[in-house]
Amino acid sequence: MTCVHMTALLHGRLVGELDLVNALAFEEHVRQCPGCAEAYREQQALRTVLRRQAKYRAPDHLRQRIQAAIETSAPAPMLEPVSWWRRSVANGRWATGFAVALAASVFLFIASPGDDRQDFQSELIASHVRSRLADHLTDVATSDQHTVKPWFSSKLDYSPPVTDLSGEGFPLVGGRLDYLHDRVVAALVYKRHEHVINLFVWPAATTADSSAQISSREGFHICHWTRSGMGFWAVSDVSPADLEEFERLFRARAPS
Ligand SMILES: [Zn+2]
Repeated sequence: MTCVHMTALLHGRLVGELDLVNALAFEEHVRQCPGCAEAYREQQALRTVLRRQAKYRAPDHLRQRIQAAIETSAPAPMLEPVSWWRRSVANGRWATGFAVALAASVFLFIASPGDDRQDFQSELIASHVRSRLADHLTDVATSDQHTVKPWFSSKLDYSPPVTDLSGEGFPLVGGRLDYLHDRVVAALVYKRHEHVINLFVWPAATTADSSAQISSREGFHICHWTRSGMGFWAVSDVSPADLEEFERLFRARAPS
């Protein structure tokens, strides 16, 4: 692989989109070529700085305007490229197109680091809603915690704490695997009257315990806490008070 190939692959490598063969070839070349290694390091550093500093999300109305502008500047007919080009320049469409492209790239630049927290909450709510719609609430349907826990242990490389809270008004109805935050995670399913509580569990980035934090979005409530190296996200449309009660009971009853 030559340095020219490397330049072509650099962006893909930065955003993690290379296939395995190209990614390995890239890493091999970088180990041996100081010039490409330097270019790679610089781009990584730039990316890190941009992600850290670009805190602001472009407002929705800007997104809508860009979308509308893209839709109105329809692709030109391919049969007459020269006359299309002349016409476009003459009537200013070229300038509009350029402005749209520039605005779009500014938008991507501003918005791509995103508000990770909001995106993540949306992801949690989407998983909760999907579990209700797709008739896929549980992979293992039982209120027996001694069945659910080993079932997870056989599917995951970690073991979420499981406890039944039937006596307290939050019966365990089962568990399933879900895909969140680029990984397969455990979803414990509880009920509160006719409402469902999805409790997503996976190893936390920190071993420090944290108290419950409630947030609300789109008519759903999310309760997050960490304990004994595990992160917990309870999502439901029950009242925030019920969700806090659930967290308190789960924390008290679940083995740490
Ligand atoms: Zn090179």
